Order: sequence, then structure tokens, then C-alpha cells
Amino acid sequence: MSALTRLIQRLKELPGIGEKSAQRITRYILRIKREEAAELSEAILAARDKTRTCERCGNLTEDELCEICKDPSRVQTEICVVEEAFDIPLIERAGVYKGLYHVLGGVLSPMEDVSADELRIAELVGRVKQKGTKEVILATSATTEGEATAIYVAGQLKGMGIRVSRIARGIPAGADLGLADEVTISRALSGRKSMDSTDQE
Ligand SMILES: [Zn+2]
Repeated sequence: MSALTRLIQRLKELPGIGEKSAQRITRYILRIKREEAAELSEAILAARDKTRTCERCGNLTEDELCEICKDPSRVQTEICVVEEAFDIPLIERAGVYKGLYHVLGGVLSPMEDVSADELRIAELVGRVKQKGTKEVILATSATTEGEATAIYVAGQLKGMGIRVSRIARGIPAGADLGLADEVTISRALSGRKSMDSTDQE
């Protein structure tokens, strides 16, 4: 296999990259300076080698704790629960949330055989018990699985004396956080509702 074919093959293995895109990227790589190509391959390796998950919240970081967990100015009594670490920069960009995060690492899915013990739910309960948490905001997506996960997590946090809320349906049903813009995310957060309100009313 020629070096060129090998590169195209590799690129085609990347998510969202088909034959056409692989060819376009290859054409670009053949045109750039050698140093630029070296920088690109080094960036891939460095990100791969240095990135780990925050021991507390599961965010991506290069240290034991992520930047958010290390920041004393963040509201320590609020935890926003998200599916993936990549949801965090989306919420951060909206600029309205000042608390902490907790990454579940997915959603409950009988179809894909993801059960509760595969998600970082026990870790969340542990954090809530340990520290003076006042509110947990469930920001899983508005899909069936995201909703089921939110309900399950809320159940696990029941009776712990904290407010458990769910982000508003500003985000279209079936869509994930990644598709929502900053305004939508801000509204979803500010319009969040207590999940235990039904048994209080
Ligand atoms: Zn963290």
C-alpha cells in the first residue's frame, strides 16, 4: 500500500469522514509545509497521551483535577450533570452557569446494554453526600434515554435534602446539547424545574 493510500484509509476511519473528505484532507496535507504536518501529527499524539479524566467530575484534563474543580470561585454547592465531557464547553460558552459539573459517561440504554453501574452515578451520590451540595441540575439530553437517565439519577438522589432540577425543554426533543446554541442553553438552564415538585404539589 502506498503512503498516500494508507493516509486516505486512516482518515476514512475517523467519524464523519467519508471518501471525499478523506481525499480533501489528504490534498491539504500534501500541500502544507513539512513542519506543519509534523505539528499536526504531534498534536494528535499529545492530546491522546496527555488527556485524562478529572478524578472528581470526569471532565477532560491534563491534571488530577480539571480547571473547573480547581477554581475556588465556582459555586461549590451546585452540580450540573452532563452525559459527556464535551457537553461542558458548550454550557460554559453560554456563560450563565457558575457551579461544578459531573460527567456520567453516557446515558442508560437497554438497547446498547448500558446499565446504571456503567455510568458515574455512584460517584455523583458520593460527591453529594460528602460536600455541601444544595442543587443538582440534570442536563442530560431530551431524548428518551436522556429523560430516563435523568429520572433514574433523580431517584438515586431522593431524600438527600437537596434540590434536584431538570433543564427546561428549550432544547428540541431528541436533540442533544451539541446542537443547541448559547441562547438556548442559557434559557434551558434558567428555566430548569425541580424534579420532585410533583410529589410536593
Ligand atoms: Zn473536575
